[in-house]
Formats: sequence, structure tokens, C-alpha cells
Amino acid sequence: MTQNRVFNFSAGPSMLPVPVLEEVAAQMLNYEGSGMSVMEMSHRSSSYLEIFDNTKALLKKVMNIPDNYKILLLHGGATQQFSMIPLNLMKNGKADYVVTGAFSKKAAQEAAKFGDVKIAYSGADNTFKHIPTQEELELRDDASYLHLCANNTIYGTEWKYVPETNGVTIVADMSSNILSKPVNVSDFGMIYAGAQKNMGIAGLGVVIVREDLLEAHKENIPVLMEYDTMADNDSMYNTPPAFSIYVLGEVLKWIDGLGGLEVMQQRNIEKADLIYDYLDQSDFYIAHSDPANRSLMNVTFTTPNKDLDAKFIKESIALGMQNLKGHRSVGGIRASIYNAMPLEGVQTLVNFMKKFEEENK
Ligand SMILES: *Cc1c(COP(=O)(O)O)cnc(C)c1O
Repeated sequence: MTQNRVFNFSAGPSMLPVPVLEEVAAQMLNYEGSGMSVMEMSHRSSSYLEIFDNTKALLKKVMNIPDNYKILLLHGGATQQFSMIPLNLMKNGKADYVVTGAFSKKAAQEAAKFGDVKIAYSGADNTFKHIPTQEELELRDDASYLHLCANNTIYGTEWKYVPETNGVTIVADMSSNILSKPVNVSDFGMIYAGAQKNMGIAGLGVVIVREDLLEAHKENIPVLMEYDTMADNDSMYNTPPAFSIYVLGEVLKWIDGLGGLEVMQQRNIEKADLIYDYLDQSDFYIAHSDPANRSLMNVTFTTPNKDLDAKFIKESIALGMQNLKGHRSVGGIRASIYNAMPLEGVQTLVNFMKKFEEENK
């Protein structure tokens, strides 16, 4: 079965580690002697609560999450957080947003429905190939929080530093780079991610939030949008996305077994360098993002023209590589190389890039 799998460069939902898929398949009909699948279990059963608690404990261990943070496992992916964040955290009605791509723009637009949103920086004028330096940020000392997107999935840029905010708490969308490298959780008031890039499968939004931020939200907001209610009920005010949480647990076991986030980071640097080094010496391909802001997870580039982009994508599919087409808003090529993408997949891509350049130069 596995020998027919393709190298799937999709930005999300994306590739899962084969050992995780094998384990999930092996447990599909009868999870550890329970006589049923995880999909069929009550979320209040002891079998499921063990999965749930172990998943949270393993996330805490792998990400080294301090004790004063709560882990919430919620519905609605990352986008639901675009609404929950202003509803709960915009305590004084003001927040700053850094717009470095499509998702941070959506997040800022949503927040503007609920309060005074200032755009601390926008990359719209440079087609989002740049992450602002500290000096380029226009921050307000009295903002309730600063929101940023740590890795821009569509444009292929990534923050390499945590901005200095004069005490304003930072809220970070890490949907496409969470678990790719160690992060100092204490640098952030809240970290969140949709699971379908680097954590598992769609439907789950993972929220890591400092406890002191939980209380006092706007009155009369929908109950499923209340962080404090979700925390008080351990994310089980209603039925949680139970199977997605189980898959997250299996992904975390895989990461932990390989040595954790330092090992992930080394592997990810090795993979990304293979492509970026090739792009840098080529006078055929053009890398999209500024060299200082290159994403380890989403590598974006173009060939000399749109026809060649289309030819590149067509030929790559015939060679067992899928979803290399850039996002519809940018075009070109995008290789999403999350934790689960093996080195061999990236080597296959770079070999093809060389061959394609020779044939089409
Ligand atoms: C994919 C993605 C989202 C949206 O995630 P959903 O789970 O579809 O809501 C938000 N932010 C970033 C950075 C993403 O990559």
C-alpha cells in the first residue's frame, strides 16, 4: 500500500507521517481492546479520556508549555480563533495586528468588527515577501494585544524573532509552523493553530493561552466562543473534535519518539536548505520571499513565466509529486514541507527542478 503513496506537497490538509497512519489504521476497528473505534467512543468514556489527557500532556511536554498556560482543544480550526481572540482578549477595545499575508489580513478584518484595530505593519505593498523588522512596526503601548502570524503559509515567509512590545501580550497564529521547531511559549500570551498542517487533521483548533488572559470577555458572546467556559469544562462543554484530537496524540508520539522539536528543526532546516540552496544558485527560478524571512515550511518560487509554471506542475504530478501549485492568489510553485514530508520527497523535488531547468532554459 505505502509504495503507491505520492509526495504530497499540499499546504493543508497535508501529509501525515506514515507510522501515524499505520497506527491509526491498526486501531481503527478495535482501539486497544475497547471493542470499538475511537470514532465510536463516548468522549466521556475512560478510554477516550485517557487519549484526551495523554494528548494534552504530550503537547505540554513536547512544546515545553509552562504550568500557567491552558491547552484548549476546540472546534473551528484556526479561523474560529480570528473571532474568539477579539471577543475574549480585546479587553480595552484596542488591538494591533501585523498583516504579513492572507490569514493575518483575515484575522485583522474580523477583529475590526469588535474594536479599534491598528495595522502595525502591512506587507501588501511588497507582495508579502517581507516580515517587518522591529523598527518597521508601529506599536501602541495601550493595545490589549499584538497579533501576528508566525508563518505565512501562502507567501512562504516566517518570523525569525519575537518583537519587543513594551509589555503588550503577543498572540500568534502558528497554524503552519507549530511543532516545526522549539518555541519559547512564555514569549506569547496565546499561541493557536489549526491542526491540519503540522499537527494532524482538520476540524481541530489548538489554543495555548496564559491563564490570566482567560477571564472577562465581552458580555453575551456565543458560549462556544468563551475561552473561560472552554477552560472550565476542559474543552468539553460540548463534544470535542474527538478523532482529530486522537490523531494529534499519535502525531505527538511520533515527534516525541524521534527526539522532539530540536530534531524536527534540524530535519526541517536540512530539507528547506536543499531547496533554497538550489534556488539561490539558479538563474532560472525566482524565490518569492526575502532571504532573511524564508519559511522552513512553505517554499514559494516561480519559473520564468506562467506557462512554464503550469508545465512544471503538470510534469511533477507525473513523477509522483502532488499539490505543488502555488496558492490561487500568488501563482507559481509552493512546496509545503511540513514535519511529515520525508527528506526523500524534497530530494525528488530538487532533482526534478534541476532536470526541468536544463530542459527549459
Ligand atoms: C491554514 C491556516 C489558517 C486557517 O486554518 P483553518 O483551520 O482552515 O481555519 C489560518 N492561519 C494560517 C497561518 C494557516 O496556515
